Amino acid sequence: MSKANNPLNDPARRAPETQLVHGGVMRSPFNETSEALFLNSGYSYPSSEHAERLFKGEIPGAHNYSRFANPTVDVFQTRMALLEGAEAARGFATGMAAVTDAVMSQVRAGDHIVASRALFGGCRFVVEDFMPRYGVASTLVDGRDPANFAAAMQPNTKVVFIETPTNPTLELVDIKAVADIAHAHGAVLIVDNVFATALYQKPLALGADLVTYSATKHIDGQGRVLGGIVLGSKKLIEGDLHTFLRQTGASLSPFNAWVLAKGLETMPLRVRQMTDSAAAVANALAGHPKVERVIYPHHPSHPQYDLAKAQMSAGSTLVALEIKGGQQAAFALSDALAVILISNNLGDAKSLITHPATTTHARLTEAARLEVGVTAGLLRLSVGLESSDDLIADLLYGLDQI
Ligand SMILES: *Cc1c(COP(=O)(O)O)cnc(C)c1O
Repeated sequence: MSKANNPLNDPARRAPETQLVHGGVMRSPFNETSEALFLNSGYSYPSSEHAERLFKGEIPGAHNYSRFANPTVDVFQTRMALLEGAEAARGFATGMAAVTDAVMSQVRAGDHIVASRALFGGCRFVVEDFMPRYGVASTLVDGRDPANFAAAMQPNTKVVFIETPTNPTLELVDIKAVADIAHAHGAVLIVDNVFATALYQKPLALGADLVTYSATKHIDGQGRVLGGIVLGSKKLIEGDLHTFLRQTGASLSPFNAWVLAKGLETMPLRVRQMTDSAAAVANALAGHPKVERVIYPHHPSHPQYDLAKAQMSAGSTLVALEIKGGQQAAFALSDALAVILISNNLGDAKSLITHPATTTHARLTEAARLEVGVTAGLLRLSVGLESSDDLIADLLYGLDQI
């Protein structure tokens, strides 16, 4: 009885670190400590009548097919929902599947989307190129000023989609201000929260309706699997979003869900360490004679420093560097690094550096690249778990080789 009365039985009273270790656990009759891995596609039923009732939705929480219902995927979804403070969540095969389903589940032909133009490449493609093919027009705006969203809203605008901080230049969008604008027009606000992570920025609390993650990034954080997740109210998640997932099938595999649920156990430790190192790298390189500017949300030189301090409880695991001397200098630096790997992924235990203008943003015209700050000398660094002294020494050596 004493254990039954323990207030910590209520998951909502536990700190995030505790939720991410224990949240959502469903022990099998074997009482295993680690989460069980239910690697199954279907389920058998004790009787035809049971199956009939299950398909009528009369047995809550029942599973009938792993495209949309699997216990291991449930563990990951519940754990993430606890961290986010969301009523419900659905896992997806990738971050792009999560974003695409979040957006498409909220629109019909004839509707309109407003989005900030500084977006992860795939997200921008979905909003700018893909949705108009199906009769959903979109307007991209400079997300740094909320007034640009207000000016772009139309009577048929159903979705506002933003990412903050943005990839790769770490610009910010004021989530609360944009949520108010979206809601005044009857639109939902969807926030891609990959760069800040669920630990350091809470879009739902600031007014967002849906939050998306590429779980491939900090949630796995060890470069192993792809995954995505969308979180929000029961109404939005269990309504159109669930139907979209169920009927189109961009489902998260139970194996990947298991890897991601285990990744969440260590995410606070990893992300905190990586964030501390990112801040140290930003401080070490700011003012270096070969560096035009260092972009880091919690560095006082960031143009939106006040908003970064108000909206994010830490500055993220990414740093952008604008190197003097353009592409040649940026390549010379990257090619001289011994610890930091050249790679376009992010949020990994291994530090990764990328030259957006020739990789992730090569698809855009030069004018479109410059509009979002992707200059020839820009490098994006995802700071990993190596010693920050080694990372700084590696970067200083690279700068010397220019
Ligand atoms: C990586 C990423 C995505 C896409 O996720 P995948 O898992 O690679 O499909 C979407 N948005 C942002 C901000 C990302 O960093």
